[in-house]
Amino acid sequence: MDKFIPLSVPNLKGREVEYVTTAVETEWVSTGGPYVNEFEEKIAQYVHSEGAVSCQNGTSGIHVALQVCGVTGEDEVIVPTLTFIAAVNPVKYIHADTVFMDCDDSLTMDPDKLMGFMQRECIFTDRRLINKRTNKQIKAIIVVHVFGNLADMEVIMKIADEFNLIVIEDATEALGTYYKEGRYKGKYAGTIGTVGIYSFNGNKIITTGGGGMIVSANKELLRRAKHLTTQAKSDELYFIHDEIGYNYRMTNLQAALGLAQLEQLEDFIITKKKNYELYQKNFRDIQGLSLMDYRSNTRWNSWFYSMFCDDTYPMNRDEVIRYLSSKGIQARPVWGLIHTQGPYLDSQNYYIEKAEHYLKHIVNIPCSSNLSEEDLLYVVECLKV
Ligand SMILES: *Cc1c(COP(=O)(O)O)cnc(C)c1O
Repeated sequence: MDKFIPLSVPNLKGREVEYVTTAVETEWVSTGGPYVNEFEEKIAQYVHSEGAVSCQNGTSGIHVALQVCGVTGEDEVIVPTLTFIAAVNPVKYIHADTVFMDCDDSLTMDPDKLMGFMQRECIFTDRRLINKRTNKQIKAIIVVHVFGNLADMEVIMKIADEFNLIVIEDATEALGTYYKEGRYKGKYAGTIGTVGIYSFNGNKIITTGGGGMIVSANKELLRRAKHLTTQAKSDELYFIHDEIGYNYRMTNLQAALGLAQLEQLEDFIITKKKNYELYQKNFRDIQGLSLMDYRSNTRWNSWFYSMFCDDTYPMNRDEVIRYLSSKGIQARPVWGLIHTQGPYLDSQNYYIEKAEHYLKHIVNIPCSSNLSEEDLLYVVECLKV
């Protein structure tokens, strides 16, 4: 049996070879070259942002975002525990501290607990939010739009305004998701807070192999981000540097891939949504299995599908994953919760319950934009035990 259905893999059937070939033939393969600027402009256009600054990956984007937002090693940052660790590690890169928050039933940060934490555990004085336990200032929140599902930004932004907090949107999984209704109608994931970050890693909805993008409505902040990602050079000829910068800029080769991918993004979303609905329809006949919903007043990008296995299903999470693997189907649980991981054991956390619950019950199942209907139905058949 050679069948293998991967969880989430790149789909490179557009003009990728053409654009990458042009980059090679013109010998613009590094951080110079026209594709990088063009990709920045096209992403900014796509999400209706003032501008965009490319970087090597989503992680470096979050690292730079924290700095351009003025978060320092003296500060604390509120982060989710249910996320990929790259959303959180950059807080430690700048020597700030983390406070872990639970998720709600959308798998994104629970705004009620967020509010509860601020009211019970913090003091708001001189427009500064102080954590009573540590006496440190909480400067920012990193919100992650988990699996392409928008966090409840209407409530989170209200809380952030009330307590003078910066909101950094980790939209690495949510390119293409936007509000269809309400206060933020038409606003894309990543463009609601102070700064947003996208990732073009191989498993994301579009890929540049590895890459990322920083967006913001604040032009000065974007200028600073560009400065930091390009070695903070203040004089091109004499190589004068006015602060510690990074070599984080995307290369023309990556951007060539990205431009070809971006042309296909809307098609990928349509396919992924169709596949999501096909799974959902088939799961109606399987006792104990269901797909987690996306937020209803949004257009979601359907990046990842979360299958919830309740206690009436004959197998538990780990048995499902092992069984699917034996059938050539790649599946995985959600991430190990970050507040339980070695480097974060000393961090504060606030009543984490739902994240544990969902970790125990969710299995992510194949969701690539090139997943065939035949393969999808094979996954469904296997799950009918
Ligand atoms: C992928 C991802 C990142 C990091 O992106 P890279 O490009 O891999 O560095 C950060 N946060 C979340 C939630 C992600 O899924």
